[in-house]
Amino acid sequence: MKLSTKIIIALILGAVVGLALNIFAPDTFTVLDKYAFTPLGQIFLSLIKMLVVPIVFFSITLGVAGLGDPKKLGRIGAKTIGYFLSTTTVAIIIGLVLAFAIKPGTVGTFDTTNAEFEAKEAPPVSETLLNIIPSNPIQAFAEGNMLQIIVFSIFVGLGITMLGKKTKGLYDVIDQGNELMMYLVNLIMKFAPYGTFGLIATAVGSQGLDAMKAMGLYMFVVVLALFIHVIVTYGGSIFFLAKRNPIEFFKEFSPAMTVAFSTSSSSATLPVSMNVAQKRLRVPEQISSFVQPLGATINMDGTAIMQGVATVFIAQVYGVDLTLTMLITVVLTAVLASIGTAGVPGVGLIMLAMVLSSVNLPVEGIALIIGIDRLLDMTRTAVNITGDAACAVIVAESEAKKEQQTSNLSA
Ligand code: ASP
Repeated sequence: MKLSTKIIIALILGAVVGLALNIFAPDTFTVLDKYAFTPLGQIFLSLIKMLVVPIVFFSITLGVAGLGDPKKLGRIGAKTIGYFLSTTTVAIIIGLVLAFAIKPGTVGTFDTTNAEFEAKEAPPVSETLLNIIPSNPIQAFAEGNMLQIIVFSIFVGLGITMLGKKTKGLYDVIDQGNELMMYLVNLIMKFAPYGTFGLIATAVGSQGLDAMKAMGLYMFVVVLALFIHVIVTYGGSIFFLAKRNPIEFFKEFSPAMTVAFSTSSSSATLPVSMNVAQKRLRVPEQISSFVQPLGATINMDGTAIMQGVATVFIAQVYGVDLTLTMLITVVLTAVLASIGTAGVPGVGLIMLAMVLSSVNLPVEGIALIIGIDRLLDMTRTAVNITGDAACAVIVAESEAKKEQQTSNLSA
């Protein structure tokens, strides 16, 4: 049986077992969760997280060193950031429009009297941008600060290109390091079906079904918006910009989506999503290794969608009218907020707190959605990393076209 089939079976089985125990045997669930589901999930999560920092360092350094021409890096960077910013803007607009049309905050009763939410401080975007250069790379590695690791790796890669033969030995070491990491990803993925089963059983089993029923319409709007974004924005751009078959893209990329779904973390899924993009979607290593780690940190379309829907939902519950200026502020804050926050579980809610306070909406409204957020986090994380992969494919195709034109011209 293929590994991707096994993972999907594990996913369905985990959801069924979690749900059945939640309904029929909650006590058994508590015991099984403690001794089986959570440990299985945690082992898998730690195994893939173990590879994130080395993989980002080795692959970006190698990618930049292999580019040959620093100008190419600038071009790829501009295309990548352009795609990220525009798709995130589209995503949040889809979320806002659907929430306005379906009005999830006006159906049902929501008790706001006891709603409380302590918002964790998110760093201001200006500070994140200033901090992007690591004054101590070892610290950046130890803390897993993705943007800083990316910057350091780009410098090392550029240095290796410039020094040429002098750093040939180092280049080989990094090349072999990268090879080794990719091998380890494949090895760890053999455990993925068990890990996925554990993670999903825990996530589904620990949900309160009543909370899900009460929040059903809100969840429906978020999932519908995610679906539309994936099909229209990603499918459309893969088809029109990369001239590739979107169905094949989704099919080939699905193993990474299932891992994102079970881990709820773009960062943790990075080793798998890069591996899948390079091996199954045929994205050149130099492009995948630059676009995807950057995307895992700064590009979160699924999260932006949730923020759009949640903002309108909370405004509706609290009876606040959103003006056009407020909506524009929401779009801008949501896009900027995603730049500074790493892709880990639940971070979307911290970003949402920033968005709500930017338009003076009650931050404690988050208490209403927090109970069911884990399930939506799974779904939006899968969308977040699909956006990164779609961008990698599009940039790869456009670079290939450019190279083709250049070689035609010189021939
Ligand atoms: N968990 C998401 C991610 O890692 C972020 C979020 O929406 O909470 O991409």
